[in-house]
Amino acid sequence: MNIHEYQAKSIFKDYGVPTPRGIGATTPSEAVSAAEELGGDIWVVKAQIHAGGRGLGGGVKLAKSIDEVETLADEILGMTLVTHQTGPEGKLVQKVYIEDGADIKDEFYLSVVLDRKLEMPLIMASTEGGMNIEDVAANTPEKIVKVPVDPAIGFQGFHGRELAFGLGISDKAEQKNIISFAQKLFKLYMENDAEMIEINPLVRTGAGEFLALDGKMGFDNSALGRQSEIADMR
Ligand code: ADP
Ligand code: MG
Repeated sequence: MNIHEYQAKSIFKDYGVPTPRGIGATTPSEAVSAAEELGGDIWVVKAQIHAGGRGLGGGVKLAKSIDEVETLADEILGMTLVTHQTGPEGKLVQKVYIEDGADIKDEFYLSVVLDRKLEMPLIMASTEGGMNIEDVAANTPEKIVKVPVDPAIGFQGFHGRELAFGLGISDKAEQKNIISFAQKLFKLYMENDAEMIEINPLVRTGAGEFLALDGKMGFDNSALGRQSEIADMR
């Protein structure tokens, strides 16, 4: 079972994993109130469907005024969004998420998955943010950093340093930020019995902070019996 982006991000916030502020909306007028409540001057209107590739399919759009938020929400709500993950029939958009526009310096990929061979969680990261990880693995496997984390030991400083080094993050403050990001994400992964968490893109902002711009979380059905709050998100 997968949950929606806005649901994953609410869990991220509970664990202090940095992600833009956002509010869900099911009508254009709710989208306007959401944007007003968030404030600022750039918002992103994002279709909430159980599939990736929304950006390319027209389900993620930048708005530079409240009027534009309303127009885009009107356009996206009720649309049948077709992406490479929905199949040709597409998916009906019944909810949008209005989010602060982020100041993106560059985009990375970060995920935590259960590695069946190693029988332990594996953190995977790449500088090729926004790209499909299967494509990166097929074409430029050297650009993927893999850090297995034995749950008996937990996420340690050396795991974090391996990750930062593998991504070529050399600035001390940025290293600290990415390590703390991954540490919180790993805790979240373990405590929620997740099967996978994928953040694509994870962005570095102009200020050297790391933000989860997208969020996908999947759960094994057997975990849902233990995680009733997650099961209720279905
Ligand atoms: P999907 O993977 O379904 O296409 P994403 O959430 O990854 O959806 O969004 C697609 C792209 O839109 C991102 O790669 C990013 O460039 C841009 N984007 C998404 N959210 C924001 C945001 N809050 N601020 C700025 N740009 C964003
Ligand atoms: Mg994405």
